[in-house]
Amino acid sequence: MSSIADNIESVTRRIQKATVEAGRDVNSVRLLAVSKSRPAAEIRAAVAAEQYAFGENYVQEACDKMAELADLTGIEWHFIGPVQANKTRQIAENFAWVHSVDRFRIAGRLSSQRPPHLPPLNVCIQVNINAEDSKSGCSLSDLPELAEAIIALPGLRLRGLMALPAPAQSEDELRASFRHLADLQTMLNQTPSINGIMDTLSMGMSADLELAIAEGATWVRIGTALFGKR
Ligand SMILES: *Cc1c(COP(=O)(O)O)cnc(C)c1O
Repeated sequence: MSSIADNIESVTRRIQKATVEAGRDVNSVRLLAVSKSRPAAEIRAAVAAEQYAFGENYVQEACDKMAELADLTGIEWHFIGPVQANKTRQIAENFAWVHSVDRFRIAGRLSSQRPPHLPPLNVCIQVNINAEDSKSGCSLSDLPELAEAIIALPGLRLRGLMALPAPAQSEDELRASFRHLADLQTMLNQTPSINGIMDTLSMGMSADLELAIAEGATWVRIGTALFGKR
């Protein structure tokens, strides 16, 4: 059984190799450690190995772990799960990033509930890139309007796009999905109100981080390869 520190090292090496092979700046891709369902002690072990960015999917579970880890400084919490309207206040008060904003109602609540003493909440719009019926995420047709609406919200800072491609795709199909997300971001960045401010692509997980980095990922969200099977 390998330790969390060893796993962080080997995932970091995978990220670096893929980044270099893509001809990208070595500092352009960051590792988000997805700690959902893992105990606070494992997050503590990751922090000891200098991993500070963590992704969580469930608000109550995340807030419980934040309380257990309150003695640590420097942790950056990212919310990556579906956002329910009755949880937006806790998210706005406790997280630095939300990767999974997919509709205006949620964005408006997060903005108005973001405490004024904190910097604006960094947000990515989750895009339903393969138009799956079952999936959360903004549709391609609603995306431009949602992006422009988020730009106008004072409590939020629009950073980019996130996708969770349909499982069981071939490598070529997965890569095409990641490329599609990157192309959407390029297109949005060309609209005058957005004007190049989107700098983040949250895409790629344990099994496909290399493909995502080849297509421009800036956050890869990694659970299993760091903490083992859930
Ligand atoms: C669980 C989860 C991940 C991590 O997936 P792994 O395959 O375990 O690396 C990434 N993103 C989201 C949105 C998740 O829910």
